[in-house]
Amino acid sequence: MTNTLVVKKFEKLLGKDNVLSEKEDCYPYAFDVVEQGLDVKIPDIVVLPETKEQVQEIVKFASKEGIPIVARGAGTNQAGSCIPVKNGIVMHFSKMNKIISIDENNLNCTVQPGVIVGQIQSEVEKRGLFFPPDPSNLAVSTIGGAIAQSASGSRHFKYGGTRDYVIDLEVVTSDGEIIHTSSKTPKNVAGYNLTQLFVGSEGTLGIITEATLKLIPKPESRRVMLAFFDDLKDSAMAVESIIRHRLQPSVIDMMDDKTIYTIEEFSKSGIFKPAEACLIIEVDGTQASVDDQMTRISAVCQEHHVSEIKVAQNQSETDKIWFARRQAFSAVTRLNFDVVAEDLVVPTDRLVDMVHKIQELSLKYNIIIAIMGHSGDGNLHPHFSLDLRDQDQKQRFELAEREMLDYATSLGGTITGEHGVGTVKRAHMHLVNEEPNLRFMRMIKNIFDPKNIFNPDKIL
Ligand SMILES: Cc1cc2nc3c(=O)[nH]c(=O)nc-3n(C[C@H](O)[C@H](O)[C@H](O)COP(=O)(O)OP(=O)(O)OC[C@H]3O[C@@H](n4cnc5c(N)ncnc54)[C@H](O)[C@@H]3O)c2cc1C
Repeated sequence: MTNTLVVKKFEKLLGKDNVLSEKEDCYPYAFDVVEQGLDVKIPDIVVLPETKEQVQEIVKFASKEGIPIVARGAGTNQAGSCIPVKNGIVMHFSKMNKIISIDENNLNCTVQPGVIVGQIQSEVEKRGLFFPPDPSNLAVSTIGGAIAQSASGSRHFKYGGTRDYVIDLEVVTSDGEIIHTSSKTPKNVAGYNLTQLFVGSEGTLGIITEATLKLIPKPESRRVMLAFFDDLKDSAMAVESIIRHRLQPSVIDMMDDKTIYTIEEFSKSGIFKPAEACLIIEVDGTQASVDDQMTRISAVCQEHHVSEIKVAQNQSETDKIWFARRQAFSAVTRLNFDVVAEDLVVPTDRLVDMVHKIQELSLKYNIIIAIMGHSGDGNLHPHFSLDLRDQDQKQRFELAEREMLDYATSLGGTITGEHGVGTVKRAHMHLVNEEPNLRFMRMIKNIFDPKNIFNPDKIL
């Protein structure tokens, strides 16, 4: 596709600096976080639009010529969602990175897709407002990627995920038209919920050029504790029990001994001590309710044989805990050549069974599996630590993964809670979707993108 005329056309539209066409410049865009071996498709051209009108023009051209377009934020998704599978165009949003407005009266903000999630949080927090969705890599993840991936994170337990905070999207459709999926009002039921069709669509239905997000008041106070256990299953039982006691921390994250060891090695925080399991529990609200919840949650942990509870005494300790937790994926990558981060969900009252099964599979297939996750939501990220160049390990991993996902679905769970489908979970879609569901999904894709130019061969 990259002939000189096309490059010149895009350079005229976007400026020379916003078009990459040399193979070595385009090569990094053939990858995201997921290991793909050597069979990568290098995009023919990478474009960095600065305006929605430029996006429109590129889409119109691609649509006319039948050229695939893969939208890209920070490239940090864990599902192979933004790797090109057919060369074509990668549209990188690093230059559409402005917060357009923060409407303090109407509790919303409007942003371009390339704004970093953590930046939105810190800007609104300066005004006493709060944008809760917190993927662990919020320091780099773009909001466009988080919306397209329907990312969530630790605070989902109390606050929900990105999907719950998207009010309206501006989208460039496959024929280059600009649509708004809703209004900027907090409520709007005038028609089908187009907004939620685009949330989690992984760039397969259209290109998001602007998003209006819901904000809420920032909680007055916040406190985090670490609860250490000598038995992973006790920690899972404590999670179930906290929920049964109608307590509502903002976060209940779980880490096993391997995760604790690697993040302490990595972060040198001095806060995490060796234990078979640790729960990170954060509570927020008024000062009085925070104190009350902390006391009651500690009592529940005692019922489940907690070995030690450490409460962060100041902001610096809180920051150290969250820094370490957010480095968990990077820390585990140091254990072996590859790491595969799973993303299953089970009903929270089956968490103990799921944790037990993962431990069993680790022994059965002789693979290190570090367990971490947003346990309050039943969302576990077992991290397989292995060397995928070794065919025997690769085969054992595939068997263990399949057995793990089969078990999660047999408990009434699902194959992905927040990372998405992309290329890595496509083969498992039938485990949680019956044929009529898949048929409707294919029809939706076909209506929005009849020429299959938007991120082809993902999800379905
Ligand atoms: C260390 C680490 C920790 C993580 N922790 C969490 C976590 O706690 N919770 C969680 O949910 N996820 C987590 N993730 C994965 C998370 O989904 C992604 O990291 C992130 O939200 C995607 O943002 P991105 O900017 O990197 O998007 P990319 O990876 O660049 O793209 C993601 C998808 O969005 C599409 N896209 C991007 N921009 C647009 C646009 N403007 N219009 C249409 N489609 C677009 C892409 O085509 C792709 O399909 C983690 C990832 C890492 C590496």
